[in-house]
Amino acid sequence: MKCPFCHHHDHKVIDSREAPEGNAIRRRRECLNCEKRFTTFETIELSLQVHKRDGRYEDFQQQKLINGLDSACRHTTVSHDQVIAIASEMTTELLQAQVREVSTTQLGEMAMKHLQALDPIAYIRFACVYRRFKNVDELVEAIQSIQPKDDANRTSVKKEETDAAQKK
Ligand SMILES: [Zn+2]
Repeated sequence: MKCPFCHHHDHKVIDSREAPEGNAIRRRRECLNCEKRFTTFETIELSLQVHKRDGRYEDFQQQKLINGLDSACRHTTVSHDQVIAIASEMTTELLQAQVREVSTTQLGEMAMKHLQALDPIAYIRFACVYRRFKNVDELVEAIQSIQPKDDANRTSVKKEETDAAQKK
């Protein structure tokens, strides 16, 4: 850190105290060159923590979200660009909510909400992974919860059903 007056690099700490809010340290410093005084703040940089299923935490990474969405949306009508749009919308939502912690389950629920509106098949694929359905009833329930927005969605569900039937 450079002295704001003479840009000299060396200074000494003459006083150090916690800021009234308790989440920062104020340090009164004196420049070793010009002897002028200035204050620095040391604060905690907060990053959104993702609480994983195994109980561990990791830093939230938008890229991880994109990767997960991409693999759920393979072979669906959801494009990579739409995946990126969903991921950035989710990131914005989380930042606006000012949460410090989010669970992978919550992330999954958020992603499902977005996917449900875009492509019912992508939604179901994603739901299978994130909700870890315990039985067929739960899966059927999730499928029934889809309200087709328009004819295009209904057609794509029908098409997938036909495809599945043909494979049998
Ligand atoms: Zn100075």
